Amino acid sequence: MHELSIATNIVEIVEEEAIKANKSTISEIDIEIGSMSGVIIEALEFAMEEAVKKGVAQNAKINFKELMARANCEKCFHQFEVDDFFAVCPKCASFETNIISGKDLKIRKIKFD
Ligand SMILES: [Zn+2]
Repeated sequence: MHELSIATNIVEIVEEEAIKANKSTISEIDIEIGSMSGVIIEALEFAMEEAVKKGVAQNAKINFKELMARANCEKCFHQFEVDDFFAVCPKCASFETNIISGKDLKIRKIKFD
């Protein structure tokens, strides 16, 4: 259900962009999903199929790409990929780490016909 509201939101954004660009058809949408965004790609793909029906994006090719989350160590400033909120720095074993990316979902590109 969570994914359906995200999909509806994405469709609203791309439709707004289409209006701004004065286009009536969208051919391609690139979506980036952070590995820690809590979004299940398969569920979002399914939800998008429903959400684009009858809209300007109904024939659009939608590309989903998962981005690995990254964290930054506050002690040694090492940056590394993470898949857990309790990330331990692989370099100095510090727990003082911050997730710096991979918690969100982004529309990377919208292509119009
Ligand atoms: Zn460190």
